[in-house]
Amino acid sequence: MDVDVVVIGAGPAGLAAALGLARQQRTVALLDSNRPRHAATLRSHGFITRDGSSPLELRTLGREEVLRYPTVTHERTLVRQVAAIDGGFVVQAEQPGSRAESETRARAVLIATGLSETLPASPLVRPWYGTSLHSCMDCDGYDKRGQALALIGETDDLVDRARVIRRHTDDLAVFTNGSDAVDAAGEAALAEHGIALERSPIVAIEGDRDGMRAIVLDDGSRSERSGGFVRPWWHPQLEFAEALGLETDEDGLVIVDRTQRSSVEGVYAAGDITPGFRQLAVAAGAGTIAASVINRDLIARGL
Ligand SMILES: Cc1cc2nc3c(=O)[nH]c(=O)nc-3n(C[C@H](O)[C@H](O)[C@H](O)COP(=O)(O)OP(=O)(O)OC[C@H]3O[C@@H](n4cnc5c(N)ncnc54)[C@H](O)[C@@H]3O)c2cc1C
Repeated sequence: MDVDVVVIGAGPAGLAAALGLARQQRTVALLDSNRPRHAATLRSHGFITRDGSSPLELRTLGREEVLRYPTVTHERTLVRQVAAIDGGFVVQAEQPGSRAESETRARAVLIATGLSETLPASPLVRPWYGTSLHSCMDCDGYDKRGQALALIGETDDLVDRARVIRRHTDDLAVFTNGSDAVDAAGEAALAEHGIALERSPIVAIEGDRDGMRAIVLDDGSRSERSGGFVRPWWHPQLEFAEALGLETDEDGLVIVDRTQRSSVEGVYAAGDITPGFRQLAVAAGAGTIAASVINRDLIARGL
């Protein structure tokens, strides 16, 4: 198949880009493995007109919108490789399950594949993730206001995160799960803001179907917490793009300029796979910018 643009990933970034491109009468192949990071959560917040909607509903609505345009196709598939060829790109993908392969040629490629993530104390945290425990403080802090909250993490940005959460509660404890994530200066900063620090490994998280109730530590103590936040480790998965030689930052995220252009001509990136704030509206905005810029760049190439 030959299209103007292959969009890899149908989250808010890829869907917004596909919509913008469709409205420029561009042919678009939207290739998506349907494994969004936010599938764990029931409600998403902060996206104007959709505050409180399920993120899956958002995706479904977005997909329905873009597929009303005859120049857009959508395929549930996992992109395995993107390679530059004859001034364009060839994108190889494999259907999960059947292993059927497809190949699409495009003049430009937008990478909007988001991130995958792993959680600290994962087997204990996972059952509460998306309901009692969240990762996006800007998205979910408001709904937890006034509660006894936890911040669980093992990275060196916990103090900054705790200070954002602290706006919503007077009762916040940071749990480092046996790691040395918070140094002496960090401990002092937390104390200054009235935030408790628990360094022992987490051995259990108690609760019932109404939600989380307490965190139990290796030292035998038990801290009553009705929910809070966890700081995941985020992983860009860009093996499929290795042959392109994209410039990435120290976290492996695709470096783009203000117009979503990557270091490789004809390749663009938007959403969580690029550095910056990780929110639905931000990803959708970047996808919209990418669509406008891709269209202009194709016009400049006489296409
Ligand atoms: C638990 C949780 C709750 C959140 N809550 C909120 C909230 O309330 N409000 C808010 O604004 N933000 C929230 N976020 C953040 C928000 O979900 C992300 O910032 C946003 O979804 C990023 O959009 P994206 O399009 O970049 O990537 P994604 O939405 O992650 O979509 C990427 C898509 O690319 C696909 N993909 C990946 N690799 C490939 C490949 N090789 N081939 C084909 N397809 C591929 C994936 O399957 C996925 O469908 C939350 C995140 C999480 C984890």
